[in-house]
Amino acid sequence: MSFKILKQASCCGIGDSDSTGCDCASDSNCCDPGAISIDIKEVACPVCGKTGVHVENVTVKHMVKKELMDEVSEDEHWLCMSEECEVAYYTGSKVEFNIEDIKVTIWFKKDANPKYACYCNNITEEQVIETVVNKGLDNMKDIIVSINGKISSQCKVRNPAGKCCTQAFNEAIGKGMEIRNKE
Ligand SMILES: [Zn+2]
Repeated sequence: MSFKILKQASCCGIGDSDSTGCDCASDSNCCDPGAISIDIKEVACPVCGKTGVHVENVTVKHMVKKELMDEVSEDEHWLCMSEECEVAYYTGSKVEFNIEDIKVTIWFKKDANPKYACYCNNITEEQVIETVVNKGLDNMKDIIVSINGKISSQCKVRNPAGKCCTQAFNEAIGKGMEIRNKE
């Protein structure tokens, strides 16, 4: 199975490269979208049986708690995408890390608190909704600048999936706009 990462607007694409602080231009799957087509087989989570998303080991190493960094094996890793499952990362044969082994909460997991909309900029879904409702903003760049003053993009080492958080961010904007339109 071949995964093609499609070109889409992302936090890496906004602002110039200096201001984004993006350090992953060379082999990134987010800052150079469309350039990557990797052949990775589908592997199901050993616990829930759902097919996860392949992640690079560099991402796993940055996500696990400091004391567990040495336990990240050289095997290929997948992120379990199931909302209900306690598993974070697994290899082809076994569960390597559960959600409590990870430094941040994983946004799509049940009861994730805080629920991040953008890991690079440390922004939660709640902050996005608040900014959309109270400041009338509805553009990702404006919202990040409004909350943080600047934009940072380090998806590969800060997002548990190693990819841009645009989708989760846009969903949060949508929720905020819905509330704003009702007021
Ligand atoms: Zn699972």
